[in-house]
Amino acid sequence: MIRASERAMGIEYAIRDVVLPARELEKKGIKVIRLNIGDPGKYDFQPPKHMRDAYCKAIQDGHNYYGPSEGIPELREAIVERERKKNGVEVTPEDVRVTAAVTEALQFIFGALLNPGDNILVPSPSYPPYTGLVKFYGGIANEYLTVEENGWQPDIDDMRKKIDERTKAIAVINPNNPTGALYEKKTIREILDLAGEYDLPVISDEIYDLMTYEGKHVSPGSLTKDVPVIVMNGMSKVYFATGWRLGYFYYVDPENRLAEVREAIDKMARIRLCPNTPAQFAAIAGLTGPMDYLEEYMAKLKERRDYIYKRLSEIPGISTTKPQGAFYIFPRIEERSKWKNDKDFVLDALHEAHVLFVHGSGFGYAGEWHFRIVFLPPVEILEEAMNNFEAFMRKRLAE
Ligand code: PLP
Repeated sequence: MIRASERAMGIEYAIRDVVLPARELEKKGIKVIRLNIGDPGKYDFQPPKHMRDAYCKAIQDGHNYYGPSEGIPELREAIVERERKKNGVEVTPEDVRVTAAVTEALQFIFGALLNPGDNILVPSPSYPPYTGLVKFYGGIANEYLTVEENGWQPDIDDMRKKIDERTKAIAVINPNNPTGALYEKKTIREILDLAGEYDLPVISDEIYDLMTYEGKHVSPGSLTKDVPVIVMNGMSKVYFATGWRLGYFYYVDPENRLAEVREAIDKMARIRLCPNTPAQFAAIAGLTGPMDYLEEYMAKLKERRDYIYKRLSEIPGISTTKPQGAFYIFPRIEERSKWKNDKDFVLDALHEAHVLFVHGSGFGYAGEWHFRIVFLPPVEILEEAMNNFEAFMRKRLAE
C-alpha cells in the first residue's frame, strides 16, 4: 500500500463526516431532513440577480484568463470602498488580497505564520477548518473558551492563560459559527488590548458581518490603533454565493509589522496562480450594487431563527441560547444519561427522528454535549424537523 501523509490523514471535518450515516439511511429510502451544512444556496437563497448577470457577462465578454495573483485591481478598489463604508477602515488596494474564499485566506495566513509547534488561539467552539488547517500547517490549534452563560462571548482571562511563547496570532470569528454569537464592542477592545500586550496579530473572520438579528457587527479592524489585524470576508454568506469560491482579506497594520508575513503570503498566492477571474467581476457587482435583497433574506432568516428558537425552548432535555447572527443555533444537551456523548446523541436523532445535526464536539472541546442546527430551510421544513425531534426527545426521556 502506498502510504498517505499523516498530515492529510489527520484531517477531520465533523460537518461532512455525519453525512455518511445519513446517506446509508437515504439509500434505504428513508427521508432525512439535513440541517448540517450552512449553505444558503441549497434552500431559497440565491446571489442577487445583478451578481449572476455580471458573472455571465464576464464570461461572455472574454474575462476567462488568469488574472493577477493578488486579484484584479477593480475588485480590490471595490473591496476598499466596501470596507471603508462598513468598518470605517482606511486601507488601499495594496492591502487587499483576493482569494478562493475565506478558506483559502485561512490557508495563506496559517501557512505564512506557522512553523511546526507554533500555535494560533482559536475559539472553542469554532468552525472546524480553523483547527484542521492550523494542524495541517504543522501548528497547534490553541482553543480559548467562549462562555455559553455569557451569550458565547470569549473568555478574555482564558485567552490570556492560553498565550505562550509559541503563540502566533489570535483568531476571532464574529458573528460566530457554530454559536451564532455576536461579540460586544467591549469584548473586541479587550481582545485588541490583549493582542497588543503580547505583540500578536488578530485574525478576524467577518464572513457573517451583515447577517445580524440584534445589534451590529464591530470589526477589530475598525478599532485597532497599532495591533495588526487581518480581516477576512467574502461572497459566500452575505452575498449568498457559496459555490463561487471567492473571498478576500486585507491588512490593517498601521506600523507595518506584518511586512514579512505579507511577503510570505504573496509567495503562496503566486504559486497557486490566481483566484477565479469571472467571479471577481461578479463580486464587484455585489460589493458596489444594491443590498435590498439582504433585507428580504434577513427577514426570512429572522423568522426561521425565531421559530426554531421557540420550538427548541419547548423541548425537554435541552437548553438553547438565542443566536444573534449567522444561521446556526447551538443547543446544549442537559439530559445526558441516555447517550454516551454528543455524537451518540446526534446519531440516535438521525436514526430515530431522521434529522441530521452536527455533534458539538466536532467544533472543539467547549462544544461537547451540544449540537449544531442550521436554520436556513423554510419554516415548514423546520417544523417537520422539530416535530420529529420533539417526539424523539419525549420518547427517550420517558424510557
Ligand atoms: N468562516 C466561517 C466562520 C464559516 O462559517 C465558513 C463557512 O461556513 C467559512 C469561513 C467558509 O467560507 P468560504 O466559503 O468563504 O470559504
